[in-house]
Amino acid sequence: MTVAATDRLIAPHGGTLVDRTGERPDDLDSLARVELTARELSDLDMIASGALSPLEGFMGRSDYERVVEEMHLENGLPWGMPVALAVDEAPAGDRVALVDEDGKPVAVLDVDEVFEYDKEREAELTFRTTEDAHPGVARLYAQKPLYLAGRVTVFERPEPRFPELALDPADTRRVFAERGWKRIVGFQTRNPIHRAHEYLTKVALETVDGLLVHPLVGETKSDDVPVDVRVACYRTLLAGYYPEDRVLLSAFPAAMRYAGPREAIWHAICRKNYGCSHFIVGRDHAGVGDYYGSYDAQLIFDEFEPHELDIEPMFFEHTFWCNVCGSMASTKSCPHGADDRVFLSGTKVREMLGEGQVPPVEFTREEVAQVLIDAYKVER
Ligand SMILES: [Zn+2]
Repeated sequence: MTVAATDRLIAPHGGTLVDRTGERPDDLDSLARVELTARELSDLDMIASGALSPLEGFMGRSDYERVVEEMHLENGLPWGMPVALAVDEAPAGDRVALVDEDGKPVAVLDVDEVFEYDKEREAELTFRTTEDAHPGVARLYAQKPLYLAGRVTVFERPEPRFPELALDPADTRRVFAERGWKRIVGFQTRNPIHRAHEYLTKVALETVDGLLVHPLVGETKSDDVPVDVRVACYRTLLAGYYPEDRVLLSAFPAAMRYAGPREAIWHAICRKNYGCSHFIVGRDHAGVGDYYGSYDAQLIFDEFEPHELDIEPMFFEHTFWCNVCGSMASTKSCPHGADDRVFLSGTKVREMLGEGQVPPVEFTREEVAQVLIDAYKVER
């Protein structure tokens, strides 16, 4: 028996890569319809592609309860956050059509159960706050009152915004195998990559076979840098400063939940499904405002047994250019003081770029700054 090249890679979460794509059913027009929000649609597409393996549909009560309470599915596998579909009422029939925001049918759901949930409890346990100033909590509070659970079959997938970057888990796994990679580190981002993150991705890359730069392209807050500008920044940076045959740029279709530590676990498990053996977790991963401590998204990995997640987190500090070291560094590796470090606040950087000024090369690559400056010009 021959061993497939992809067998060298980490196994998907639960052992098998789920595929919930399928044929459009003949009786579609006779089914009750449920309209999905943007977040639910991105969850649906990730179920279809296997990015959320082993989930085959929206969670039932037993999975939901155990995930919210204990960060595990009913079957004992680790899991970070609920993946649930909110509805107003129990639908008629045992199958429903799921439709997008334009009313176009995209999937069928075989109804397992409909159950009540407590929004404040879900907020407290998954977001660690019940304040509706938190964008993830606000979205949760705006949801419909019941959860509809069941296996899905997706026959219409959304048109990807960046078709050449739209790689499903089976695709990234194939690319990794073709390139002969076994150990791959995944990097999640929803910001342009400046020197600090360039440095930590490269430090990680020094120890593995390949790097998956996996920017989130789903729904984000309106004050985040627009996704097309970010993608232009990634392309520019990778073309100029990374070895082409050691890096893969691909889009991560998830919507942000801003759940900090819980989302870090969820992000890591998703990247395991894409074939990553390692995952970068910086400070304030997936956080928002002051809701999470700087290291909460790293500490939460200790709540699992060693190797229970299988994918290995790589923890990083904030990094910076140190004038005395003459290199990028972090407080883990540099003994010098704050005065020796090049530090610019996010506000200061936005100000400079808005005025057409290129920040110092110790902070960002000039080519990346230029992409951002051009974007700010168009915005005006
Ligand atoms: Zn130093």
